[in-house]
Amino acid sequence: MKLRAIDFVLAAALLIVLAPVLAVRALVSILRSGRLFSGTDLVGRFGAPFRRLHFADDAPGAGLPVLLNILRGEMAFAGPRPLTAEEAAAIPASGRIRFEMRPGLVSPYTLRAQVGIAYEDEEALDREFHAMQSVKHNFGLVLRACVSQLLAGNTESPAPDILQFFGVPIANTTMAEAIDWIAERVRGDRAAILAFVNPDCLNIACVNPEYRSILKAADRVLPDGIGIRLGCRMLGVSLRANVNGSDLFPRLCERCAEEGLSLYLLGARPGIAALTADNMRQRFPALKIAGTRDGYFGEDDEPEVVETINRSGADILLVAFGVPRQELWLWRHRDRLAPKVAMGVGGLFDFYSGWIPRAPLWMREIGLEWSWRLLQEPTRMWRRYIIGNPLFLYRVWRQKLGKINL
Ligand code: UDP
Repeated sequence: MKLRAIDFVLAAALLIVLAPVLAVRALVSILRSGRLFSGTDLVGRFGAPFRRLHFADDAPGAGLPVLLNILRGEMAFAGPRPLTAEEAAAIPASGRIRFEMRPGLVSPYTLRAQVGIAYEDEEALDREFHAMQSVKHNFGLVLRACVSQLLAGNTESPAPDILQFFGVPIANTTMAEAIDWIAERVRGDRAAILAFVNPDCLNIACVNPEYRSILKAADRVLPDGIGIRLGCRMLGVSLRANVNGSDLFPRLCERCAEEGLSLYLLGARPGIAALTADNMRQRFPALKIAGTRDGYFGEDDEPEVVETINRSGADILLVAFGVPRQELWLWRHRDRLAPKVAMGVGGLFDFYSGWIPRAPLWMREIGLEWSWRLLQEPTRMWRRYIIGNPLFLYRVWRQKLGKINL
């Protein structure tokens, strides 16, 4: 009730404040299309149909009349994603809790989809939202949606299967497909090399030809972080999801536990990979970790390290030495490595051992995970983010102009 009252007052206040804009916008709509409103038929609370209002033309601000839907109580500022009748009919009985709430102008699912981290199914997010609803929670969601909207890009842009940054082909895919790909390649006959790239990696690729050629030759490169989304936005394409190693890791562990596949964790300071293994085994008791080893050993020890990995019988190898060292190491040893999938995962074990806390979810939802890392290790990270992020966008802009030739 309290939420509904706040929605009503806020929608009314916005309608009053925006009245001059709305009047001009209404005139534009009538002049351009001969009509004031058009609408989309949707399903609301308790399954009641309603029509979401738009101005009848497609000029900026066409969505503003949704404030009238909120005023009338057909929608809320925050709530589950509004569905068409077809989509609503396909909702299983377990997901019907969403119909106890007014559909939202912003929803937990669309918020995460905007920055490419909507890995969970929508039903689970709706159920969580239903349990968490409060003025603070709902308006926190609206605020985060406003910020992430700035980063979201045009969802109408085409989404090619391969994205090209500075000659590096990046798979434009979803988290679920990426996990399937790994599980599939485990049955292959040679080690497939997988790499994750963020803007910092692509900056390194521009000046390090060896690393760049490895990325070009790798079996798969996946997009990591909001910077790639911004780069895609500059190029006029859309990124399907942010398939970074940190979000992939627990989902991969879950899948490995289900399918009886084993992991070897190599890298990070002494004890960190072992701590990560303990934590993941606690979360997924059926998970097999074939072995762990820190990432501080000399070149002379390399044959023995490779031998130990191979003897462990691991299906998948995760190497955390940082970029580009881990990719160079993997490439050098790929023909000798027995695991069928090997990937570089950077600082992943530092997070999952609990050694370095990962950014809270609300920061990831607005695309600011990088600023969290910057605050935690400013002396090491300032160059990567303060200089690296604008440099990456500058290079993308040059690529767009056809001026980067690598
Ligand atoms: N590391 C390592 N051996 C080395 C240098 C680094 O195992 O010789 C580890 C380091 O302890 C850390 C990871 O490599 O766990 C690199 O983390 P970083 O945050 O730099 O990775 P990225 O930002 O590339 O994901």
